[in-house]
Amino acid sequence: MKTGTLYIVPTPIGNLNDITLRALEVLRSVDVIAAEDTRHSGVLLNHFGIESKLWAVHEHNERQKSEAIVQRIQEGQSIALISDAGTPLISDPGYPLVNACRSAGVPVVALPGACAAITALSASGLPTDRFLFCGFLSPKQQARLSALEALQDETATMVFYEAPRRILDTLTAVLDAFGPERQVVIGREITKQFETYLSGTVAEVLEKVAADANQQRGEIVLMIAGAPANDHNIPAEALQLLSLLSAELPPKKAAKIVASHYHLRANDLYKHTL
Ligand code: SAM
Repeated sequence: MKTGTLYIVPTPIGNLNDITLRALEVLRSVDVIAAEDTRHSGVLLNHFGIESKLWAVHEHNERQKSEAIVQRIQEGQSIALISDAGTPLISDPGYPLVNACRSAGVPVVALPGACAAITALSASGLPTDRFLFCGFLSPKQQARLSALEALQDETATMVFYEAPRRILDTLTAVLDAFGPERQVVIGREITKQFETYLSGTVAEVLEKVAADANQQRGEIVLMIAGAPANDHNIPAEALQLLSLLSAELPPKKAAKIVASHYHLRANDLYKHTL
């Protein structure tokens, strides 16, 4: 018997036109659409005249449902997984299901599409060559501050999802953890009528958000620039390796190898060989 496929299908994060032709085609053709919230997704599917059967698969039942879904796919049915908005599994349910499908050798096909983190990052003006997606911070003050402090020396751009009611507290914690001068960008209501981007130092953005209640509403992606890759960020093992390699190799080559291994800048390492 031919097995079916699990499709991971992104849906819009605000603007309904941001669904792809392929997503519509897959949603129309599958036997079942597994949705995080069937009522919420029902509105989207109605809008596009999609009548496929809906199943509720959310964080509270997805472990149990995964088994049934894997079995259906093995029996030849195809199933699409969608979340309330954006790409499933990205701060959304789906991981246990995809993991179960992969373990059972069931085909998984992910469609590209809307994702708030990637959309915000591409418009942020912050470096995009390396970024760290951190999802939601803890709502608890101390846990949130500790998580941010642990990222103080991170050199990649950091991307967070945040609830509007917590954005002021979170920006205050960012200021405490990274200092007032670190660059941040807030992307709000992306693809929607009141889309805005605010950028500047943490202190500047905090002041703007505090002064404007509208900036404390809607959906928010918070991005924090990485720390400059300076001496302070070069781990001791990287310097040791550099010293060993530069005894054998031209300094530029040694710096390049260590830089690529530790995700550092070759120039910063090269200075240590002089
Ligand atoms: N899976 C989704 C994705 O691909 O972006 C994210 C789901 S997560 C539960 C929801 C969070 O994503 C929101 O709290 C907000 O931080 C962010 N988000 C979703 N849509 C957004 C939008 N239109 N503008 C800004 N942030 C958004």
